[in-house]
Amino acid sequence: MRVGILDIDTKKETDGFGRKSKYPNIACGKIYGYHKLNGDEVIYPYNGEKVDRLYISTIFTATRPMIKRMLPYWEQRADEILIGGTGWDDYTKAPYTITELPPEIEAIPHMNWTYEMYDINYGIGFTTRGCHVGCSFCVVPKKEGLTEYRDVTVKDLINPRGKHVILMNNNSLAHKDFYKDIEEIKEYGLTVHWDQANDITLVTPKVAQALRSVDYRGFDGKKKQLFFAFDLMTKKKIDPETGGTVTYDMTKVVPERVKLLNEYGIPSHHLVFYMLIGFNTTEEEDLERVEILRSLGCEIYPMLYRDLNGKVGVDWRGNPQPFHVRALRDWINSGVYRKTPFKDFDRRDRHKKQRQIEEMQIAMF
Ligand code: SF4
Repeated sequence: MRVGILDIDTKKETDGFGRKSKYPNIACGKIYGYHKLNGDEVIYPYNGEKVDRLYISTIFTATRPMIKRMLPYWEQRADEILIGGTGWDDYTKAPYTITELPPEIEAIPHMNWTYEMYDINYGIGFTTRGCHVGCSFCVVPKKEGLTEYRDVTVKDLINPRGKHVILMNNNSLAHKDFYKDIEEIKEYGLTVHWDQANDITLVTPKVAQALRSVDYRGFDGKKKQLFFAFDLMTKKKIDPETGGTVTYDMTKVVPERVKLLNEYGIPSHHLVFYMLIGFNTTEEEDLERVEILRSLGCEIYPMLYRDLNGKVGVDWRGNPQPFHVRALRDWINSGVYRKTPFKDFDRRDRHKKQRQIEEMQIAMF
């Protein structure tokens, strides 16, 4: 059998050792392993060759229209096409349409196959999955559920070619085995990158001490970085212990917990905060969050909201996002926010004018 694998979103980046895949697709690693074990010919990366079966996987919904456009072409190149991944699933309303790997492929341990397929020298995967917080803009609770559960151990994820491990867990700190992970990271002398934002509300002295005890790094294993999130002004969740609703004023929680991390030896400049914009916050609230993080000395990584079906430019109600959102992202990403106030950032005016023209056009038609 001749099989092609097309993982749409895996990014190629160049490091000192050549072009490598960033964010390897773990489902594709399993597919690759399953067909290699079956003695099939596996074509990866797939570039339009004639195959018996073509697997297409996408993580981001933004690529869905492109897949639909290309489908007639691929249908001429493959006898059978299987498409899946979070970007292909439909989370519009329950029951959600979630594609799953066939059980015989799901059962394949992905690690070494993924590492071989993508030619990477670091380990990557999930030691826990799920997230109890249930943010409405996030796919994780819908896909993996509202209870954190164990997947594999850190030891299982170690790549024999390297000492760096990337954990994709969505809420590492919420699972009791976080401390087991910490012990294994130390035992095997690993550097670790928690790729998804950790939950700052769960930082306690014990957690801070545990984080400080390991060699945390960025994705590439070089820079000292720990990622958290400051997505909302107020965060609400169901406490898994009591079943009651807990509300956090994030403008207070973030500074408190950053100071706690500082006290345990983690400096602010190691801390990177994902900041969701264009979801439900105003310009004033966005600027307040920037100012809090800037004054604490933390890095900011703005994330532009797009709805669960990949629609861009809309807020949580489906209304157009305020004009400041894209300009704010550029202001932060360019680093200009460190010295120039947002009101003096020239792209702010450009975005404002553009929005006014769009509104006029909508009114005319
Ligand atoms: S805390 Fe993070 S992973 Fe959990 S639901 Fe919210 S955004 Fe998703």
